[in-house]
Amino acid sequence: MNSQIKPLVAGNWKMNGHRAQLATFAQMCRGVGPALAKSVDVMICPPATLIYSLAAAAVGERIAVGAQDCHAAASGAHTGDLSAEMLADCGARAVILGHSERRADHGETDRSVNGKALAAWRAGLTAIICVGETEAERKAGRAVEVVSGQLAGSVPEGARSDNTVIAYEPVWAIGTGLTPTADDVEEMHREIRSRLCASFGDHGKDMRILYGGSVKPGNAKELMAVANVNGALVGGASLKTDDFLGILDAYR
Ligand code: PGA
Repeated sequence: MNSQIKPLVAGNWKMNGHRAQLATFAQMCRGVGPALAKSVDVMICPPATLIYSLAAAAVGERIAVGAQDCHAAASGAHTGDLSAEMLADCGARAVILGHSERRADHGETDRSVNGKALAAWRAGLTAIICVGETEAERKAGRAVEVVSGQLAGSVPEGARSDNTVIAYEPVWAIGTGLTPTADDVEEMHREIRSRLCASFGDHGKDMRILYGGSVKPGNAKELMAVANVNGALVGGASLKTDDFLGILDAYR
């Protein structure tokens, strides 16, 4: 474990939130004081409609704003899509890529995620690249093989610890209240770390590996203490101030 890595806790609001949610964001900002900000980086990834307003509200605050997807191209005839440059222009600093919901609902592949990561870097955004096995894959004993394949295909050459974050999210743990055991998380994160080191050398050693899937205030401390877990990607529990701040308590 590289204990020098500053952890990141990122909230993924998914397709939730209207402008009224700005008040929630302001409350969250008030809850992240200077001491906490020293020990953990905090980010909220709202739906694209809220990126600009949240980023404007975040100026001078200790929470960064990220996006949930981008197109691989910088501009062009792609109705309904948003480029990484547009997200950066609105104040986003990072973008989640290859979330299992996008892989399932929009047919995203390792190859398309790889192209989007290059686009994110081009626009100066950090790529938060998601990997994770399904329940059937885990039951078949293929979890490590599946995640390794996703890493090899989704993370472009040239990934650095300052432009890329990996999020391990077992699909069966997302939104279900189920989580892997600490031992299972440790095994997978160790495997991811060793592959990142093999591919990216010192950058692989320093790259953040987040755990995601039903992280709650009640389990955050245990999960965040696991070796090679450098923070969390939080879905449902990032929508409520108390829950999100409760998770951040793991780093107080
Ligand atoms: P969850 O979602 O925390 O609601 O399980 C995690 C995610 O999808 O990033």
